[in-house]
Amino acid sequence: MATRSSTTARKASLLKPVMFCDFDGTITQVDVTDEILTQLANPSWREIEQEWACGSIGSRECLERQLALVDASAEELDSLIDAIPVDPSFSRFMQWIEKSNLPFYVVSDGFDYVVRSVLKRAGVNGQLRNGAHLFASSLAVEGRRVKVSFPHTANGCAHGCATCKAEIMRKLGHGRKPIIFAGDGLSDRHAVEEADIVFAKRQLLVHCRKQGIACRSFDTFADIQASLAEMLGELSPVRRTPRADQKKRAGSTLIR
Ligand SMILES: [Mg+2]
Ligand SMILES: [Zn+2]
Repeated sequence: MATRSSTTARKASLLKPVMFCDFDGTITQVDVTDEILTQLANPSWREIEQEWACGSIGSRECLERQLALVDASAEELDSLIDAIPVDPSFSRFMQWIEKSNLPFYVVSDGFDYVVRSVLKRAGVNGQLRNGAHLFASSLAVEGRRVKVSFPHTANGCAHGCATCKAEIMRKLGHGRKPIIFAGDGLSDRHAVEEADIVFAKRQLLVHCRKQGIACRSFDTFADIQASLAEMLGELSPVRRTPRADQKKRAGSTLIR
């Protein structure tokens, strides 16, 4: 007869989960692109921000023009990135992700150069190719200039996304379930529509609640890990006390 734990394990083995995760404000505690612009760009980047905020340009054009205003060496950029605070439990979460074999992708309007650096700091080894292991805008340093490009805009994207998270999730999530997403901001509002399980904080949490989108609130990756471990049957089987065993046995004979 199947015990409860083997039933859970069997159920979990039928799942083919995949997880997508926002970067700025979710993995990092601040928006790194904003930090780069504030510290290393000509202040006129704020005027471009206004054009974007009032909807006259999309985020792709906005980032392209703003990053052209950066005047910094690779060393200056690197030391800014190294000082960016990261969720304190992200590193442990990534160890758990690797151990669980849960496919995990960062999807971000921000830049691969930054994402790679932060993931490496969190102890993620191996290749971090933009388009395979992470999906983000692309940035290369050339002298004191940065060159940007947007390899993951989508043809059919009506949102003007720099990186179309919804499109990436549709593609990579095909045939997988549940599709898990974690994020914090309004740039995630199209992504959550493609997800079965949503972890949200800050503006994304407000948005989900307003729109009646089911979500779990979180503060740190420790919260996400605890929820997922339970959900995906990764927790060690529940240790039954002898008393519970007795009750169960007694139940099968005494209770009609
Ligand atoms: Mg964000
Ligand atoms: Zn889009």
